[in-house]
Amino acid sequence: TPPTAPLRARAEIDLGALRANVRALRAHASGAALMAVVKSDAYGHGAVRCARAAREAGATWLGTATPEEALALREAGLPGRVMCWLWTPGGPWREAIEADIDVSVSGLWALREAAAAAAAAGVRARVQLKADTGLGRNGCQPGDWPDLVTAALRAQDDGLLTVTGLWSHFACADEPGHPSIAAQLTRFREMVAYAERQGLSPEVRHIANSPATLTLPEARFDLVRTGIALYGIAPSREVGTPADFGLRPVMTLSASLALVKHTPGGHGVSYGHHYVTPGATTLGLVPVGYADGIPRHASGAGPVLVGGKWRTVAGRIAMDQFVVDLGGDEPPVGEDAVLFGPGDRGEPTAEDWAQAAGTIAYEIVTRIGTRVPRVYV
Ligand code: PLP
Repeated sequence: TPPTAPLRARAEIDLGALRANVRALRAHASGAALMAVVKSDAYGHGAVRCARAAREAGATWLGTATPEEALALREAGLPGRVMCWLWTPGGPWREAIEADIDVSVSGLWALREAAAAAAAAGVRARVQLKADTGLGRNGCQPGDWPDLVTAALRAQDDGLLTVTGLWSHFACADEPGHPSIAAQLTRFREMVAYAERQGLSPEVRHIANSPATLTLPEARFDLVRTGIALYGIAPSREVGTPADFGLRPVMTLSASLALVKHTPGGHGVSYGHHYVTPGATTLGLVPVGYADGIPRHASGAGPVLVGGKWRTVAGRIAMDQFVVDLGGDEPPVGEDAVLFGPGDRGEPTAEDWAQAAGTIAYEIVTRIGTRVPRVYV
């Protein structure tokens, strides 16, 4: 429910937009199941609320990085298929396996840990084998794949686990046409075919993230794992705009102007005086800063909609506040300062902030801090 009193700052989360994005992505996935990637608190949007909304709109799977994130979904009462993929030593693997969460392994060591956790719990673990088809990050190298497949088959025969999935992740799907994409697809098909020839029959094979789901029909296999597109943000400019794919940004970040004051020309603004007023003007104080996830790298560059016009951050973004030059306008204290949103009410988008800060929109939304309340609409 929207609050009645103005808040210092708020991230409005449009769950209707998220549901519509899920439906649009399911149409793009043309028959493949959809995993809503809700790691990192659903890219800053709130994991449990977004996971529920995504499920209502037809996402069969939920995906997280850590087992703790996956367990939090179960604790919130979300049943059904949940997968987590960042195997780390000492993680709550037994708890995850007991909670029927699919866990991912990239090597023999993790496979043995999963089998041991399943034996201790007296249940069969659901395990997905991750192939490094060219990302060069997590995943099993092609040369080590036969040993991993053999060990998984043995553990499966021993009743300790079921191999539910074979999967991988792209390095450059957000750069359509990049030669690594076709090479990864070929290697993925080969590694899957090898595992199946040895006797594994996984329920799902998957490699597509958002950019692949949107641009690469041959990468969809049985399941697509969409994160950023679910939140209505395009993976990259090269892929296109959200509207090109029928997606709408879910988060609107705004703050209430805390102070409006007249200043003479030649007035240094904020730490370091990197902005000096070019003439007599009005300054507005926006009460959010880098502690709230507003990137300090966007100092002097980040756009904000105030009183119907785009203003630019004047000088440095501080921990809790920054200043905009209102150019003589005098909006009332409490006026909305909209940092980003869908963009169709004249406000900037998370992509605009990413460009101002020299980063990607993924980082802009994911970093919005816990001090900013999420308001679900
Ligand atoms: N799959 C894995 C393994 C990931 O780590 C991520 C996120 O980085 C995704 C899928 C979702 O990617 P995207 O947000 O580009 O859809």
